[in-house]
This record gives sequence, structure tokens and C-alpha cells, in this order.
Amino acid sequence: MSIFFDLILIKKQEYCNLALNKQTKMCNDLQKSFDKIIDGNKEWVDFVKNDTSGRFQQLAKGQNPEILWIGCADSRVPANELTGTKPGEVFVHRNIANVCVHSDMNMLSVLDYSVNVLKVKHIIVAGHYGCGGVAASLSSSQYGIIDNWLQHIKDVYRLNAAEIDAITDKQQKEDRLVELNVQEQVSNLCRTSIVQNAWKNGQQLAVHGMVINIASGELINQNCTFTSNDALSDVFSYK
Ligand SMILES: [Zn+2]
Repeated sequence: MSIFFDLILIKKQEYCNLALNKQTKMCNDLQKSFDKIIDGNKEWVDFVKNDTSGRFQQLAKGQNPEILWIGCADSRVPANELTGTKPGEVFVHRNIANVCVHSDMNMLSVLDYSVNVLKVKHIIVAGHYGCGGVAASLSSSQYGIIDNWLQHIKDVYRLNAAEIDAITDKQQKEDRLVELNVQEQVSNLCRTSIVQNAWKNGQQLAVHGMVINIASGELINQNCTFTSNDALSDVFSYK
């Protein structure tokens, strides 16, 4: 029996080696865009090398960010650039349309680690106008597996259908759903046991909702900041 398993392990190892050794060539277009990344990194390495502040040596030892940023995966909304922060200052989680679902182990792990280990002071849910995920969730088109993820935003629409339906302009409808989605995700975060236990233990923690205007670069505060579970109704508020 053991020989049988050993053989399987050897076969598996051979397969892995084969996978690692068989590198295929990229066509010119792919090579060119990949080279851009490598060249960009060379510039960054030069920058780091010429930095005399010692901050990169310090960063290599560990991180101590005060902010957890939960944003959209969209390539136009990078957390550091938008907040004027540097490497080491923002812990980041991004997914399509900045959704915070209570059963998402990825999001929960990031939240738990940042709140309980890194002890971040602020959690920012950052949506953005022109969000493709939000726009798609207002349509009846199918886009693939993502349709199931977007059901969470369709739920936000369902909870606010009267308000959204009353808006006639398509762009304004989408913009409003972007804002409502941010508010809903802030609420979802506040209802997690992770955030509520942090508050219960006296940890200073604020959960904010913001919307990015990509054209102007502005971060627009949605004024839905919570620092305790006082505003939650009894059924959502843990004792
Ligand atoms: Zn987006």
C-alpha cells in the first residue's frame, strides 16, 4: 500500500517538475507588455536603492498600517495614490464592486487579521462612480460567473428599488447605487462579529464609506461612519 502511495507521490513530483521545466515562449506582444512590468520594477529598485531615509529597511522588518481599505478591483482606483499614502500605510482588500459578504472567507480573513493583529484604526469601504460591476448589476445581461457575485449588489438594489427606480437618468441611477452599495457594505462590516468584538473590547475602530470620483480624484465621504454598534438594531447587535 505504502509503495503505491510512494509511486503516486513520485508521479506527482514528476508532473510538477514537468510543469516547471516546460516554459513556453510568449509572442512579441505579450513579451513587450511583460517587459514593461520588469522595466518598471527596475526603476522602482533604483528608487529604493537611492532612498536614504531607511524606511524600506524598516518596512522589510514588518508592517504597522492604520488603515484597512476595501475597494473595487478596478485598475483605476489604487488605494495608495488616492490617499497619498506610502507602502506600509494601508492594508488592502479588493474585489469586484467592493462587496463585503459575511460568508466570504477571503474578506473575513483580511478583516480579522487587520483588526485583531494589525489593530488598524480605520476601515474604509471605497466604491467608485463608473463601477462596471454596479452598472452590470442594474442590467439583465449575463457576464458569466460574476453574475452570481453581482447578486449581492442586486440585493442592494432590491432594498432600495423605490429610490433607484424613481431616477430616470441611467448614469444617475448607477451613481446612486454605487453610493448605496458602499453604505450597505459598511453596514455589513459593522455587523460582523469581528468588528463588534473589537468595539466591545474597547478598541478604537472607525468604519467609513467613501466614493471615488475617478475624473477628479476626489474621495467623497458618504457620512456613514460608525465607531460602535449603538446604531445597530437589537437583532444585529451582539451582547
Ligand atoms: Zn468597480
